[in-house]
Amino acid sequence: MTNLSDLPLRDSLKGRQPYGAPQIHVPVALNVNENTHPLPAEVKADIIARIAEAVEQVNRYPDREFMQLRQRLANYLGFGLVPEQIWAANGSNEVIQQIFQAFGGPNRKALGFEPTYSMYSIIAQGTETEYVRAGRLDRYELTPEFAAAQVKLHVPNIVLLCSPNNPTGTPLGLEVIEAVYAATDGIVVVDEAYAEFATDGAQSAISLLPGRPRLLVSRTMSKAFAFAGARVGYLAADAAVVDALRLVRLPYHLSAFTQGAAEAALDHSQVMLAAVADIREQRDRLVIELAAMGLDPFRSDSNFVLFGGLADPAQTWQKLLDRGVLVRNVGIDGTLRVTAGTASETTAFLDALREVIHN
Ligand SMILES: *Cc1c(COP(=O)(O)O)cnc(C)c1O
Repeated sequence: MTNLSDLPLRDSLKGRQPYGAPQIHVPVALNVNENTHPLPAEVKADIIARIAEAVEQVNRYPDREFMQLRQRLANYLGFGLVPEQIWAANGSNEVIQQIFQAFGGPNRKALGFEPTYSMYSIIAQGTETEYVRAGRLDRYELTPEFAAAQVKLHVPNIVLLCSPNNPTGTPLGLEVIEAVYAATDGIVVVDEAYAEFATDGAQSAISLLPGRPRLLVSRTMSKAFAFAGARVGYLAADAAVVDALRLVRLPYHLSAFTQGAAEAALDHSQVMLAAVADIREQRDRLVIELAAMGLDPFRSDSNFVLFGGLADPAQTWQKLLDRGVLVRNVGIDGTLRVTAGTASETTAFLDALREVIHN
């Protein structure tokens, strides 16, 4: 039997474990921030019809530049964006990896404000990019002064701003993004994976794109759009940035099935996003009820809530799982993270947690 340590693996990968939340089948899965509402039937039918159409041509390579999908994504985002300013890949994780391939790499540096999305450091590792872990202020907040000072101190080639931040849910003001952009000659990535869940009035960093060619705003269809299984992430930026990403993408990386399914879903964006208002309501309910239990929820603009005040999060996680409820232990002292699901899933989580902390 050969094992991993017998192989001539790259030094930087030796001893590493593959990343990913445990995939456990339970009645109430609230661990990876999916939209747990099922797809509307009319949208499902349209997606299937588009995939059936694509299968007729599946002997041929798909449109390498996926212009129809980029047009629809530009329309969906608005802000006068044109398809040349849009890029997409198999999940925004792949988009972020392409950004690192184009702008990071050996002898280059990326900076993230930790705790933040764990894929940033993992993608940095995979692309041999140095990763600087800048911290955050009280309650995981960032101010323009603090964030810009960290960027000036470390002089990264890529800055990652997760807005709102995963796993803490913390909203990020546009003034922080403007200050960070002004403090660097590098690439500034604003990861808006949860943008659609923001409190009304929260502005997208897309509004800052004009005149800022090094600003990249990444989005995903995995969360608000209830499309995690289809693997579609995308990005809005200057057209020159898209040209840079085309240097590193694999040709035909988006399959004809993916393109067709995403186009069909975007043709129904209103219906696809119908559950978002309900999810926000459940998110706000989680914050209120967790606080009422004497726990310490952090403010959140996303579809999940990080909450502290747990003496033994690993034990609480297990006891919830024993009751059929799966949440996420992100490794921050005294905390767990829970996704806002449907009203009944949220109730099931809150009931189970009440039982666990009172026993
Ligand atoms: C979920 C998530 C993503 C990636 O999602 P994909 O499914 O790869 O599109 C990116 N950034 C953050 C912060 C996320 O939480």
